[in-house]
This record gives sequence, structure tokens and C-alpha cells, in this order.
Amino acid sequence: MTANLHCDCAAHSLLKPTTLEPGLFAATCPDCGAVLLKMDDWRRWRGAQPASDAHAPLATTAADHTRARPCPACARLMERLSVDAGAAFRIDRCGPCQHLWLDAGEWPALMQSGLALHLDALLSDGGQRRLQAERLQASRMQALRQRHGDACIDEIVRIQHWLAEQPHRDELLALLRSPEPLGP
Ligand SMILES: [Zn+2]
Ligand SMILES: [Zn+2]
Repeated sequence: MTANLHCDCAAHSLLKPTTLEPGLFAATCPDCGAVLLKMDDWRRWRGAQPASDAHAPLATTAADHTRARPCPACARLMERLSVDAGAAFRIDRCGPCQHLWLDAGEWPALMQSGLALHLDALLSDGGQRRLQAERLQASRMQALRQRHGDACIDEIVRIQHWLAEQPHRDELLALLRSPEPLGP
């Protein structure tokens, strides 16, 4: 499947067969440790894994490359896709070949966070839109925290949650805005 494919790193090495997990086959560059994974192979492996919703934040110390890279199979530039809103790194996909390209250290990070089990959902158009919305929300919160301080924003979040549970929230909001103090 990955016969005679070369890495685009400086060593331009021939990719070698590897086993990422029991039952999950891929190809890897012996020099830089990059991994080429076929979505079909991932799906076969995923089908044999237990159902799981749980995942943790993605963490990695691996240095992500920043430029788009060519697909080792067809030489088209691969898409760079996020797998979490924190964007610890992106992974590359060639749509026509259904190949994923991972830098060294990215697969172990995906396994550790549990995201490795959800690649199809994460990489789908809907998944990418969700991650984009999460990123916007996170940067909005960061801006608000910078402007008003953590303590203030935490208090607002607490009050919002509390208000959402009150049956007469509009009346309560009107009371809050009222210039007349209710108590001493
Ligand atoms: Zn390489
Ligand atoms: Zn390709």
C-alpha cells in the first residue's frame, strides 16, 4: 500500500512498514519518525476498539511543522486539520488518497488523549466547524478575562449558570439592574 513512498524530510527516506498499535498498520520514516496512516486502516482498527466518548486535552512536546506538506503518495499539498481547539498540533490529510500524515510524537499524543478513537468525527467538516467555534469561544473568554480579570469573569459565569435555573430570571435581572438597592 505504501510501497516506495518517501518522506519529505531532509533525509528523504523510504517509508518503512510499522505497527502503531496492535492491529493498526502504517508506514514510518526511520529518520524523522513521521507516520503515514491510511484512513481505511484506521477504520478497520477503530472497528475493533471499544466504544468511547472520553477524551482528555491533547498535550505534546513534539514540534509541529508549520507549512503544508505534499502527500507522499500523490504529491498534492495536504490539508492541515485541527484535532482539538487548543491546537497543540495539526495533522495533515490528503483527501483523494485518504492518507493522514503525522509528525513524530503525534500518534502517542492522540492515543494518550483518547482522540485517536475519534479521528473520523474530528476531521469531518462538522468536526472542523465545531473546533473552530470552540477556538473562537476560547479567544473571546480570554479577551474578557484580560479586560475584567479572572475573579470577575468567574463570578459572571457562576451567576449566569444560577440565573439559567431560575424560573423568574427576567424579574431577577430587572432587580439587578434597578438603581434602587434592595438591602442595606
Ligand atoms: Zn522523514
Ligand atoms: Zn495523496
